[in-house]
Amino acid sequence: MARVIGIDLGTTNSCVAAFQDGQPVVIPSSGGYKVTPSVFAMTADAEHLVGHPARRQAITNAENTVFASKRLIGRRFDSAEVQRSLELYPYRIFEGPNEDPRISISDQTFTCSEVSAVVLREMKRIAEEFLGESVDSAVITVPAYFNDTQRQATRDAGRIAGLDVLRIINEPAAAALAYGMAHDGEEKIAIYDLGGGTFDMSILEMSDGVVEVVATAGNTFLGGEDFDQRIVDHLVGNFESEHGIDLRSDAMAMQRLKDVAEKAKCILSQRESTEINLPFLASDGEGPRHLTCELSRDQLEALVEDIVEGTLKSVEQCVLDAGLEPKDIDHVVVVGGQSRMPMVQEAVAEFFGQRPHKGVNPDEVVALGAAIQGCALVDGTQDVLLLDVTPLSLGISTAGGHFARIIDRNSTVPVNKSHPFTTTRDDQSAVKIRVFQGENDMALENDLLGEFVLAGIPSAPKGEPEIEVSFDIDSSGIVSVSARDMASGMKQSITVNAKSTLSEEELDLIIEENAQFDVQPRG
Ligand code: ADP
Ligand code: MG
Repeated sequence: MARVIGIDLGTTNSCVAAFQDGQPVVIPSSGGYKVTPSVFAMTADAEHLVGHPARRQAITNAENTVFASKRLIGRRFDSAEVQRSLELYPYRIFEGPNEDPRISISDQTFTCSEVSAVVLREMKRIAEEFLGESVDSAVITVPAYFNDTQRQATRDAGRIAGLDVLRIINEPAAAALAYGMAHDGEEKIAIYDLGGGTFDMSILEMSDGVVEVVATAGNTFLGGEDFDQRIVDHLVGNFESEHGIDLRSDAMAMQRLKDVAEKAKCILSQRESTEINLPFLASDGEGPRHLTCELSRDQLEALVEDIVEGTLKSVEQCVLDAGLEPKDIDHVVVVGGQSRMPMVQEAVAEFFGQRPHKGVNPDEVVALGAAIQGCALVDGTQDVLLLDVTPLSLGISTAGGHFARIIDRNSTVPVNKSHPFTTTRDDQSAVKIRVFQGENDMALENDLLGEFVLAGIPSAPKGEPEIEVSFDIDSSGIVSVSARDMASGMKQSITVNAKSTLSEEELDLIIEENAQFDVQPRG
C-alpha cells in the first residue's frame, strides 16, 4: 500500500510527517532539517530552487524569490490583502485572467496554487527519499480560518504536486490530534497558533480519541511577517531621518532589512537587547552609508503591541462563541514560531490565567496531527475522530443585498442545510444564486464564493414558486450548493467555484505541464 503523509504547508515553513512503527514522526530532509522554508526561487540560469537553498539566496535574488505566497492563495487580486502584498514583496504579483493574483519570476508566471505545489512536491520528495518508497496521498493542513476558495486552491496545489489530497484539515485541529495522542481523559483545550502569516485560535473538547472543535476564530493575514515589517518600517524611518535616504524602492536593501529584522526579532525572544548591523546598505554623494543601531525588547514590544492585542480579540471572540469563560479551559497550547515571543506568551497566559502547556514542539505538532488523520483515513488503525467546524457563516444574497445566513459559523462539518427561497417579481423565470461566506449582514462585504442561475421556473405570481437551496460543506470545509424549483423539479448544482480558483480544464493543463518535474525514488 502506498504511503500517506501529513503536510503542514506553512506560510514561512513547511513540515512533513508519516507513521513509522506505529508512531507519527517528523521526516527530516537529507540535510537533517525538520522544517523546510516555504520559499521558491529561480536563478539567472532558470534553475528552480526550493526550501533552504531558495531562502539562502533570497537577499541577492530578491525579485526572483517567492516567499509567503500563502498570504495570496485563494484571494482576489483586488483584495486589500493582495494590494498590501504588492507593496511588501519584492517579487512581481500581477492580475491573472481569473482576477486572481499571479506571480512572475525570471519571466515565468505561476498561479499561487503552482507555487504551493512546488513546496508540496518538495515535501513529497523529502518523504519519499526518507521512506524509500513512493508516496501518493496526503492530508494537508490549512489555517482554520481559510475560506472555501483558499481551501480549494490548496487542494489544487496538492493535485498539481501529484498528490491525492485525502483531506484538508485545520492546523489547530491537527495540533489537537497530536496533543490528544499523548493525553487521556476529558479536557477542554485552547490552541493559539501564531505563525509567519496567519493567526488561528481554536477551542476543542477532547475525550477518548474524539477531538471536537467547539469554536474557531482568527485572521489569515496576521503573523510574524507583520512583526518583521514593523521593525523594517522602524529601521527605514530612522535611516531616512539620519541620512535622508529612502530605502523603500531598493529591493536588495529591503530584503537585507527584512532578513536582519527577523533575526533581531528572534534574538529578542531570548535577550533584552540586540545590535543591528548592515554595512553598505546605501550610498550617496558622500560615500557608503551603513546602518548600525540597538534594538531592545521593550522597543520591539512597543512596535507590535497592537498586533498582539489584536490576536487577543480573536481569542475573546472564540471563547465567547464556545459558550465558555477563560477559566473553563483546562490547557492552553501555543503553536507557531511567532508564539515564542515572550510578550505573546505572557498575553496568552494572562488572558487564560494559566501558563501555556510546554511539551509540544510548536514547529512539528501540526504535521504530526496531519499524519495521524491520514493514517486514520487510510487504514483505520488510528482510533481518532476529528469533528471540526466551519470558520465562517455561509449564505446567499437576497433582495436589497442582504446576506441570508444558511449555515452559521462554528457549525460542525460535514453539514448540510436547505432553505426555501422565492421570486420577487411576477412571472420571474430565473433566479441568480450568489453564495457568500462571512459575518457581515451586507452580502457584498463578505467573500463571494460563486454564483449560478436557476432558469426555467414556470410562470407564477411573485412569492409563489418554492426554490429550495441546499448547502453542503464537506469534511475538508469545501462548499457545494444546489438549487431546486420544487414545482418543476428542475435542479442546478455546483461545487462552488469562485472565479479566482482554477477551472477543471486549467487545472488539468497545469497538472500535465507539471508532470515533467516529477521524480521517482531510485531502486
Ligand atoms: P508558518 O506556520 O506560518 O509557516 P511558523 O510557525 O514556522 O510559521 O512561524 C514562523 C514565524 O515565527 C516567523 O515569522 C518567524 O520569524 C517567527 N519565529 C520563529 N522563531 C521565533 C522566535 N524565537 N521568536 C519570535 N519569533 C519567531
Ligand atoms: Mg504553521
